[in-house]
Amino acid sequence: MTISRRQLLCSSAAGAAVLTGIPQALAATYDILIKNGRVIDPSVGLDATRDVGIAGGKIVAIDANITGDATETIDARGKIVAPGLIDIHVHAGRSKEGPPLALQDGVTGWVDAGTGGADNIDAVADIARGAPQIGRALINISRTGLAGAPELIDFSRANVDLARGAIARNRDVVVGVKARLTNSVVGTNDLEALRRAQLAAAPFNLPVMIHIGQSYSPMRAILPLLKRGDIVTHMYAPAPNGILDDQGRLFPDVAAARRRGVIFDFGNGVNDHFNWDYVEKATRQGFWPDTLSTDWSVTSRTTGVVDFPNVMSKMLMFGMPLSQVIATATVNAARVFPAFDDRGTLNIGAPADVAIMELKEGTFEFVDNYKGTRTGRQRLFPVETILTGKRTPRRV
Ligand SMILES: [Zn+2]
Repeated sequence: MTISRRQLLCSSAAGAAVLTGIPQALAATYDILIKNGRVIDPSVGLDATRDVGIAGGKIVAIDANITGDATETIDARGKIVAPGLIDIHVHAGRSKEGPPLALQDGVTGWVDAGTGGADNIDAVADIARGAPQIGRALINISRTGLAGAPELIDFSRANVDLARGAIARNRDVVVGVKARLTNSVVGTNDLEALRRAQLAAAPFNLPVMIHIGQSYSPMRAILPLLKRGDIVTHMYAPAPNGILDDQGRLFPDVAAARRRGVIFDFGNGVNDHFNWDYVEKATRQGFWPDTLSTDWSVTSRTTGVVDFPNVMSKMLMFGMPLSQVIATATVNAARVFPAFDDRGTLNIGAPADVAIMELKEGTFEFVDNYKGTRTGRQRLFPVETILTGKRTPRRV
């Protein structure tokens, strides 16, 4: 299909001028033009070779051939151009080095999941506020957060009033409450920990994220305490008390929880959160993640996490279609937290957060949390990240 210059101006630049209120003469010039990439934007069902025009920090044009002037042009031939990645389970709030590193991996939005509790969430919130990209946090229901791990063995630390106070003074950053329900973290008090997390979240109408795996209570007792929009992370955590029964079948309660709007998140992590056998059994029954996440911290660069595109590649290995993998890391994640309302998309008018990645073919070894390895034929690699219309340093 050939597009005349006139049509092009109508469809892209002129449309942008209307949307952004930029005078038309200026709108014809793009700050950045990404040429010839394979644009995959599951939010609009797009997977095709396209050019992407960026101006004034926003996506202003997506077309087969954009010819307008651009301050900078990126040749993305052979690369994937996706919305900026949103990682809803990280520990990037642990130190100020974290967020810029994650940005190099394509992560333009993140949620620190429970690093801080009432006693130390202010420090996490400060790191989030100073991050280059959108950083948010879930407050740990234990007042000490992970600094006091195993943080709920002394159960008096699950203090609802203190958590509420900490949320109230960090409303701009705290977007939910986290509770780790593993036996070694909370002992036999897992259900009460979740009840307290819900009590802390309720006045603010926030979701709760639970970390499952090797809990005292079974899923059928835990899941009824979750409301629509709550998140189950480490969804493939092996027994005892995972999402599969002793014969490896998905518990009907788990499927029912998803149907009523509970989100199931991958949460790669390092120890005890998934093994290949469990992933295989669950995915063969069609139980795929709603969202992928890394459970990343600065130190897990050298472990099985490595980076978000590496974690995404693990689902490719199990046969999840590429567009679906990208959806779990973009539009699906954006829908979980209102902070990412206008993100996770390359729609015209959206803030220009873009992850440019390369899908390499070859032999790639991936690891689970039990030193199990599997070999995949494809691996996504981060190439370059654009954050609200600006190029950012590449990973070295
Ligand atoms: Zn975590």
